[in-house]
Amino acid sequence: MPGPGSTSRQCSSCCMSLNVACKTCKFCKAVQPRKLRLNKRMEKFDTKANTWVQAQKRNKTSSHLRDQAALVKCNI
Ligand SMILES: [Zn+2]
Repeated sequence: MPGPGSTSRQCSSCCMSLNVACKTCKFCKAVQPRKLRLNKRMEKFDTKANTWVQAQKRNKTSSHLRDQAALVKCNI
């Protein structure tokens, strides 16, 4: 069992010793859990980014509506 500060760890499926930087096991080709965790984080980030973009779009639309309303007021 690798201790803290160790540069090796065990494969999650075949329990062979791997370097911590390995994304897949070199023996059984299994994807290591760190990558899955990173994927989860990236998905979370993507949803956050999408909601931010939608909020920006919404705000832009409402400001455009306000601008148009101001123009209508000026024309009257
Ligand atoms: Zn393995």
